[in-house]
Amino acid sequence: MVWASLARRPDVDVRRLFTDQKDPLHRSCDLFGLSLSWELDGPVLPELLSNHGIPVWASERDDMDPIVFGGGPVLTANPEPLAPFFDAVLLGDGELLLPAFIDALQSCRSAPRQERLLTLAQVPGVYVPSLYSPRYDADGTLIGVDAINTSIPASIEKQTWRGNTLSHSTVITPEAAWPDIHMVEVVRSCPELCRFCLASYLTLPFRTASLEDGLIPAVEKGLAATRRIGLLGASVTQHPQFNELLQWLDQDDFDDTRVSVSSVRAATVNPELSRILAKRGSRSLTIAIESGSERMRSVVNKKLSTEEILSAAHHAKQGGLRGLKLYGMVGLPSETDADVEDTATLLLHLKKKTPGLRFTLGTSTFVPKAQTPFQWQGVRPEAEKRLKLLAKRLKPNGIEFRPESYGWSVIQALLSRSDRRLAPVIAAVGEARESMGGWKKSYRAALNGELPAAPGEPLPRPPAWDEVIREIWQPNRVLPWTHLKGPLSQDRLQEHHDQALQ
Ligand code: SF4
Repeated sequence: MVWASLARRPDVDVRRLFTDQKDPLHRSCDLFGLSLSWELDGPVLPELLSNHGIPVWASERDDMDPIVFGGGPVLTANPEPLAPFFDAVLLGDGELLLPAFIDALQSCRSAPRQERLLTLAQVPGVYVPSLYSPRYDADGTLIGVDAINTSIPASIEKQTWRGNTLSHSTVITPEAAWPDIHMVEVVRSCPELCRFCLASYLTLPFRTASLEDGLIPAVEKGLAATRRIGLLGASVTQHPQFNELLQWLDQDDFDDTRVSVSSVRAATVNPELSRILAKRGSRSLTIAIESGSERMRSVVNKKLSTEEILSAAHHAKQGGLRGLKLYGMVGLPSETDADVEDTATLLLHLKKKTPGLRFTLGTSTFVPKAQTPFQWQGVRPEAEKRLKLLAKRLKPNGIEFRPESYGWSVIQALLSRSDRRLAPVIAAVGEARESMGGWKKSYRAALNGELPAAPGEPLPRPPAWDEVIREIWQPNRVLPWTHLKGPLSQDRLQEHHDQALQ
C-alpha cells in the first residue's frame, strides 16, 4: 500500500528494496523508508543503511543524505530503541499520513536538512526523534521525553484512517511470500480488546471496509490477475457483512478461485462458512484461543467459551475442512501450570470429539507490547518450561505442536520495552543479531560502558536486563513511549490492566 500510494504520485519515483536480493544501491535517493511489522525486523536497519552508503545515525547525516523514515506497527507502538537511526517516524495509518508527509517534504525540498525536519515535525503523526530529548534522573531512570523547544508539538498523536475502503495487494507475483495471492483487507483493528493485543489496541477503532464500494471491487480487481484471493484482517469474520461476502464468493463464477482467510473468531465458525471455504480450496481454519483455561481466557478478555471452541471444530469438520489450527500463549500474567494443563486437556478433548480433523497448536510466549494494557507486565521465565510441558503432552498424542522460541520472545520484549539507550546495542550487535548470545553480549557491554556511544548528548547506561524483560513496571513509571499518543490514554490502559488482574 505504501509503495502503491507513492507510485501513483507523478512527483515521486519509487523503488522497492529487498534485503535478501542484493539489490543495487540507490545512493541518490531523497527518501529511504521502511515499514516494520514485528520487533525482530528492526535490528537489520543499521546494516541496511550502511550497505546503502547512508550514515547509520540520523545525527550524522548532512543535507545531501536521504531522509530516513519508517512506519508500521512496531514503530508506531514504541519507536524509541530505533529512534536515533530515523529522521522521521510515521505513527499510524498511511492512507492520509504518507501523502501529508510527502507534501510537506516537497514544500521544503531544497531547504537545509534541519529546516526540513522542523517542517516535518509540524505534520500530525510525524515524529522527528532528533527534536525530542529524553531526560533521566541521577539513577538513570527515564523521567520524560521532551520537545527541544515550544515550536515542536509536545506529544505526537497516532493518525487513524476512517475511510470506507481498506487496502489490498498491488503487486501479485509467484515470488511473493504468499505466492500469487491477491490480499484484500476486510477489517482493520479488532473490537475484542484482548489485553495483550497490539493488533487491537494500537489500531483502534475497529473499522470495516464497505462491501459494495470496497471489498467487491477490490476482489474483482485481483481476479484480473490471479485466481487466489486472501481475506485479511485480525478477525475477518467480524465484518458485519462477512456472510454476504461469502455468499457472493459462493457463486459459480468463482469455481476456479481459491479463497483463504486469516484467523477467524471461533464463535463465528459455522457449517456454511466452513463449506464455502472448503469448496473454495481452503483446507483448514485458524482460530486463536490463547489458552485452554476458561479462567485465563477471562483474564485476557478473550470472550470465548470451551463450548464455542468445540463447536468450531465440529462445524469445521462438518463443512468439509480437514484441519483446525489453534493459536495460544504461555506465560500470560497470573497463569499457572494448571492453566497450561487445561490447554493440553482441551486439545486432546477436541481431537477425541472430532476424529478425522487434524489439529495444530501454535504457541508463543507472552511478550509485553507498548500501548496495550499488559505493557506493564514482564516476560515470565516459567513460559519456557510450559512450552515443553505442552510439547510433552501433545506431540505423542497426534497433535502437531509449533512453539515459538522462548529466547526470541525475550529479545522481542527487549525491543518492545526499551528506550533510546538500546540503539548502541542494536548498532553493535550487527550480524550477531541472529544469535541470542550476540544480544546478551552486546547488552552486557552496554551495561559495562564498553560500547561506542551514539553520537550527540551522552545517555546513561541502559537499565538491567531483567528490569526491561521481566519486571512488572509500576503504573507511575514514565514509559519510553509516553510522549506518543495511541488510541487509548494510559489511564484507560491501566484500568483494563487492573480489571484483567482483578
Ligand atoms: S480476538 Fe485476536 S485480534 Fe482480536 S483482540 Fe483478541 S487476540 Fe487481538
